[in-house]
Amino acid sequence: ANAPQVAPLDASKLKITLSETLKAIPAPESLVFGGTMSDHMMIVTYHPETGWSDPEIKPYGPLTLDPTSSCFQYSTNLFEGMKAYVGSDGEPRLFRPNMNMARLERTRDRIALPTFDTNELIKLIKKLVVIESRWIPNVPGHSLYVRPTMIGTRPSLGVAASDHATLYVICCPTGPYFRTGARPLSLMAVGEHIRAWPGGTGGYKLAGNYAPTFLPQKLAAKAGYDQVLWLLEDRVTEAGAMNFFAVVKREDGDLDILTSPLDGTILPGVTRDSMLTLIAAHGSKNSLRNIPTSLKLYPHERTFTIGELVQWSEEGRLLEAFTVGTAVVVAGVGRIGSEGRDDIVLPKHEGSMGPIARALHEKITAIQEGREQWEDWSVPC
Ligand code: PMP
Repeated sequence: ANAPQVAPLDASKLKITLSETLKAIPAPESLVFGGTMSDHMMIVTYHPETGWSDPEIKPYGPLTLDPTSSCFQYSTNLFEGMKAYVGSDGEPRLFRPNMNMARLERTRDRIALPTFDTNELIKLIKKLVVIESRWIPNVPGHSLYVRPTMIGTRPSLGVAASDHATLYVICCPTGPYFRTGARPLSLMAVGEHIRAWPGGTGGYKLAGNYAPTFLPQKLAAKAGYDQVLWLLEDRVTEAGAMNFFAVVKREDGDLDILTSPLDGTILPGVTRDSMLTLIAAHGSKNSLRNIPTSLKLYPHERTFTIGELVQWSEEGRLLEAFTVGTAVVVAGVGRIGSEGRDDIVLPKHEGSMGPIARALHEKITAIQEGREQWEDWSVPC
């Protein structure tokens, strides 16, 4: 109650300085994820005595930080990943930005960075996206990836919460995440290096969760697999930086669609949540294309093991596996390798996905690109 009054984050104080020289936009088919950033960034800083500075949109460029900054020494870093799509009306729109903001808020709290009202951040993101809208490729499957980032900038080696911070948002145009073309992903199940564990931080979008994944990812690539399937003991959790789904045929002929529960050992993905909603709505509110409405789909958030995947595969009941996330949207899985076992080989399908993954992919991209309406998921800037 006696905390000093400091300035809150206030989007109405935004100062805009546009770049005098705009970059050439790369051809959509040449885009590599994260390779080319747009012309501008949003940036705002927090100081413990004065609070939040006036936010600025200014030409994209480097930061200057004290070498003792908390973010360099103690990894007080978090980020979000969301996309802006251009609708058929030519207007840019965000997909479920409130979910990203809620996750950012939980992550910020977990590493004790200074607070702010995420509604103000959404306003600033919308402003930035409108300014950068020429960067959104008007090509299906393409979008502007938006990366809100928050770093602790307390200039001291003292091991303590960072009471200084910088919040910034950068953008890059994106096309298909994996340029595997019509080939599905291969996953290597890894239980030796564990991404997340009960009571740990795997459920937060902390930058520090990602560095330890790079060695296992390199080892998987060396062994001939595209991505890691993260195990916890023998439990299947998620894959790479994506959530994982398995489609299993039931005795009555309908389908169980499984993904691990939000028990702190997976990132609560916005795409995962959306998929569970779309699966549950099939056959009633809104059906998936080319999937008979008489076929019941049962979404389950429950733990399952690599042993169960092997068993379902041997019984011919493992019909599909796929991964989901903002960057990738949906990717089909073709095989899963694991130590001391033959690869699980998924049924082959035309293109890179089975019918359920394909139908979900079609549905979610239609909603994201504003061709189809779903609740308040697609938010105009
Ligand atoms: N798991 C991890 C570890 C991730 O980094 C991401 C990407 N944010 C996801 C899953 C997918 O989450 P979302 O659908 O919100 O992008």
